[in-house]
Amino acid sequence: MDRLANKVAIITGASRGMGASHARLFVDEGAKVVIADILEEEGEQLANELGDNAAFIKLDVTKKENWEKAVSFAEDTFGPVNVLVNNAGITMNKTIEEITEEEYRKIIDINQVSVLLGMKAVIPSMKKATIGSIVNISSLNGLVGGAIGYTDTKFAVRGMSKAAALGLAHYNIRVNSVHPGVIETPMIAQEDAKEAVKEFSKFIPNKRVAKPEEVSNLVLYLASDESSYSTGSEFVVDGGLTAQ
Ligand code: NAP
Repeated sequence: MDRLANKVAIITGASRGMGASHARLFVDEGAKVVIADILEEEGEQLANELGDNAAFIKLDVTKKENWEKAVSFAEDTFGPVNVLVNNAGITMNKTIEEITEEEYRKIIDINQVSVLLGMKAVIPSMKKATIGSIVNISSLNGLVGGAIGYTDTKFAVRGMSKAAALGLAHYNIRVNSVHPGVIETPMIAQEDAKEAVKEFSKFIPNKRVAKPEEVSNLVLYLASDESSYSTGSEFVVDGGLTAQ
């Protein structure tokens, strides 16, 4: 299949979890993919497995200089970037009374400031490509409340996507946000997230958590030209959780 023929994509946090699943599907659909993550070993392994149409670069999404390097690397390896998936993120299951200022600033940096840095970094490349699609991974907690810090950043990602969509439409660059529910990845297997996930799962109308691939199909659609008239919108993939 070639739903992403002629696409050059950067996917952050792509060494494992949902980002890795997006990378696999993108390569299957004809894209050239830069797997960008702080996790080197897994990222290199995945790139080797996916062959010539994938390459790994170490990217800490909170660092502007890292972003500049990643975009240059993508251009030198595959050509101008026309897809960015801002997927890297962390979770933090603290109450408002527990969370410290340092923890709060950390999650804002990784989940929110990174999205701004990523979008700004790819704009010149997308202008060269004359087309672009930015997919920002938010969460169901970008629509309804959850843990302090995490919820704040994911609401911000939803808002930033709309603001950026308005600012970039005249360059033929689209920006949308994706709102996954509970997805089976290493993130939700973490000790401090397990209890919250168990609680959430009881209320999922579909009565199950999702596989990463079920989110990848939506991200693929948004990355491709099939979604050419969608920008500044939020796309929910949550088994009906927020429909209740
Ligand atoms: P994951 O399995 O933890 O994968 C996230 C990846 O991002 C990891 O490889 C992680 O590396 C990396 N990362 C963390 N900080 C980074 C940084 N500063 N720079 C670059 N990479 C960094 O998570 P996931 O479940 O696939 O989640 C992917 C996205 O979906 C996140 O934005 C998350 O908030 C969102 N989401 C997840 C769920 C869910 O149920 N899983 C639901 C809604 C939304 P380390 O392992 O070293 O941290």
